[in-house]
Amino acid sequence: MYYHSVTVNIARVGSRHVEQVCDRCGFTFGYILARIGRGSGEAPYGVGKDRAEQSATRKAEDELERRLHEEAELVPCPKCDWVSEQQVQGYRRARHGGLKQLAKILGIAGAVVTAIVAAVLAFGQRQWYAAAIALVIGLGVTGSIAVALLLLRKFLLSLIQPNKDHPFPPQLPPGTPEAWVPGPDADVYVPASRPHPTNNPKAIT
Ligand SMILES: [Zn+2]
Repeated sequence: MYYHSVTVNIARVGSRHVEQVCDRCGFTFGYILARIGRGSGEAPYGVGKDRAEQSATRKAEDELERRLHEEAELVPCPKCDWVSEQQVQGYRRARHGGLKQLAKILGIAGAVVTAIVAAVLAFGQRQWYAAAIALVIGLGVTGSIAVALLLLRKFLLSLIQPNKDHPFPPQLPPGTPEAWVPGPDADVYVPASRPHPTNNPKAIT
């Protein structure tokens, strides 16, 4: 009987109201951060599907929770159009994650292959010198590729500069949520409407 397994994939969707204090003018506004968390679980030969489902659900919920607290959207301050540093960092965290993943996978795979080749040379053929060289070259090449991928990601993230045209409004990525500002009733937030609240005599500043 050949090995097969059933993979269970679970996605969890959630959102939270984020309160943001502007770095530049100190104005407090809010926005809705929505994220998806994904998780998967394996059931070897289809056995333990319930457990796989539970494990997948837990992973999806953990990822959702982590993303809702670590990530951010580039919602500019409704008063001065500035995007705060914390938002830029949070937004960058979610970008180009594939490069990070690829660096990790290549790094691990490269190290494993290198270790196997070196072990075969050393213990199989008693070529200690060749084994040492294979180890150094293998780990060197693998490490360099992984570092290059991480540097590429760092470079791409550094291009995300929402305030570069300030005081002009930033160019926002599609799907950026709208800002909410404190409304006339103390604790209730209302959508920030243009013109800016500061230009609106009724606005609370
Ligand atoms: Zn501001």
